[in-house]
Amino acid sequence: MAKHQFQTEIGQLLKLMTHSLYSNKEIFIRELISNASDAIDKFNHLRLTDEKYKNDDWIGKINIKLDDNDGSLTISDNGIGMNEADLMDHLGTIAKSGTKAFIENLTGDAKKDSNLIGQFGVGFYSVFMVADKVDVITKKAGEEQAYKFTTDGTGEYEVNPVTKEEQGTIVYITLKADEKEFLSKWRTQEVVKKYSNHIAYPIMVHFTEEETEGEGDDAVTKSVNKSEQINEATALWTLPKSELKKEDYVEFYKSLSHGDDDPLLYLHNKVEGANEFTTLFYVPKRAPFDLYRSDYQSGMKLYVKRVFITDDNRELLPPYLRFVKGIIDSEDLPLNVSREILQENRILANIKQSSVKKILQAIKKLEGDEATTFAKEYNRVIKEGIFQDHTNKELLLEIVKYKSSQKEGLVGLDEYIERGDSDKKEIYYIIGEKEVALRNSPLLEAYNQAGIEVLIMDDKDFDTIVTPSISTFKEWSFKDITTIDAPDTKSPEEKEERAKEFKELTDRLKEVLGEEIKEARTTNRLTSSPSCVVKDANDPMAGMAAMFAQMGQELPEVPMILEINPEHEMIKKLNTLEDKDTFEDMAHILLDNAKLSEGIEPKDKIAFASRIARVATKAL
Ligand code: ADP
Repeated sequence: MAKHQFQTEIGQLLKLMTHSLYSNKEIFIRELISNASDAIDKFNHLRLTDEKYKNDDWIGKINIKLDDNDGSLTISDNGIGMNEADLMDHLGTIAKSGTKAFIENLTGDAKKDSNLIGQFGVGFYSVFMVADKVDVITKKAGEEQAYKFTTDGTGEYEVNPVTKEEQGTIVYITLKADEKEFLSKWRTQEVVKKYSNHIAYPIMVHFTEEETEGEGDDAVTKSVNKSEQINEATALWTLPKSELKKEDYVEFYKSLSHGDDDPLLYLHNKVEGANEFTTLFYVPKRAPFDLYRSDYQSGMKLYVKRVFITDDNRELLPPYLRFVKGIIDSEDLPLNVSREILQENRILANIKQSSVKKILQAIKKLEGDEATTFAKEYNRVIKEGIFQDHTNKELLLEIVKYKSSQKEGLVGLDEYIERGDSDKKEIYYIIGEKEVALRNSPLLEAYNQAGIEVLIMDDKDFDTIVTPSISTFKEWSFKDITTIDAPDTKSPEEKEERAKEFKELTDRLKEVLGEEIKEARTTNRLTSSPSCVVKDANDPMAGMAAMFAQMGQELPEVPMILEINPEHEMIKKLNTLEDKDTFEDMAHILLDNAKLSEGIEPKDKIAFASRIARVATKAL
């Protein structure tokens, strides 16, 4: 007997399965069938590409046996199977960081949590929602020795050598006393139809039924063994679109995603011609939990002539589309295509190119709530795309959405352009950390007053890198309002006049503030605030902000321009203020206040506070 301890995380997970995740128990059947189907896929590929495993008589199949006598449900397959090391590596440990992430992501809501099980690649353990004990009897293709893995779902498992004729895996489940409903053929059939109808291999159910022969006193009732195929057993994507209904796509998605949500959109295409291939893509309603993890799992499966090749290749779609789940089935790729070949393969590159266009076009067509959901979940990765994918930049720009100074919610660029000034063709934006700070920024005042819409970009890390790289959209150029002149109602002469009138004041401010500012000048961008700070568009450092951010470095501080509002009472008074000390305090307060409004900390907070105290005392 060989006893082993489960890895700590699995112990935790098992506890969860048995005690918390009880609301959607039936999915254990889906999870085990999905594992069986994957195992058959793997062997099918091997047999067709490796002489050693050549087997012409083999046909992949899955069997479910319901046994009333010992209260067991058995799911078996003739797939690749597992050897001793596989059992310990795959069922005794979790190699991926999946489980930890899973546990971190639990919400405490049993229904939601059970939907997450499959997503986190911990499907097998869902069996402990219904099982007292599980035996996995398995023999790896091409090997002699079979093994039995046994556990009751507490901290330990055993692995022992056993004999088994055929390759493949038998999962023998001793059901808990109150889970006997799964011994009903109808119940099992219902679950299989719901989640696994379009698994590509036949699923047979074996059960016993009471049958009565004869009539009246002569009637004899006996148990009869029966078998039935309970799924369609055709890979869904190979069927013509005209034969498929929305429900079919949605159900297939659920088995593919191991979840219970409907997809946000699906897209099924058969392409004929020089390159022949079929694609089926889904966009999930919710972003996968690992969207921003470097070890994210690709959601795409590659098939060649309906033979499964890989689900572990990130090259099938560009990285920014890593949230898309689905299938690519090529007629032209060789069956024994390797990862290296895939990387440089022209055929795959073609498939990829046409797929990306189709996916983006479908996303672009989303409307209303669906478009909003998409933007909420995926706006960031779309921004990644804008930065990475020059070929599809225009399409991506039609999809991305931003907050706006003039509208609640999110707006698209086409919508912005419709409302904008089509003579000027400028798209105004402001970038910062916090939405509230941006909305209250003094720099927005003049735009608000002139009724000009400004995009509020509060995803600072992404926006500082991506937005400057956009430059134009449909001939409209992007303008950072912190670096350009405010919308103007005054003539150049008037401005000149005013600058002269306040020349003495701006000179005094520069003298007092010295290196802390680049320049002090009058502005008409402000209405209610006395001052603001802006960047100097001509400063070479300002242009490098994006570059620094990209390298993950803080931008060295560039002195800003202090702008004052000549219409403001405070500025008018300051213009004639004699008291030197108060002037000095006020100069600093003007600057620090302006910085604070842009979310920038004053250089010396203590001095800032004591200056305010001094000025306030005088005023009282
Ligand atoms: P996932 O299927 O998401 O990887 P599971 O916990 O369901 O997670 O399964 C873990 C691993 O155990 C699988 O990846 C596979 O390697 C192995 N496995 C499970 N069931 C079978 C089976 N029926 N035949 C062969 N291998 C299996």
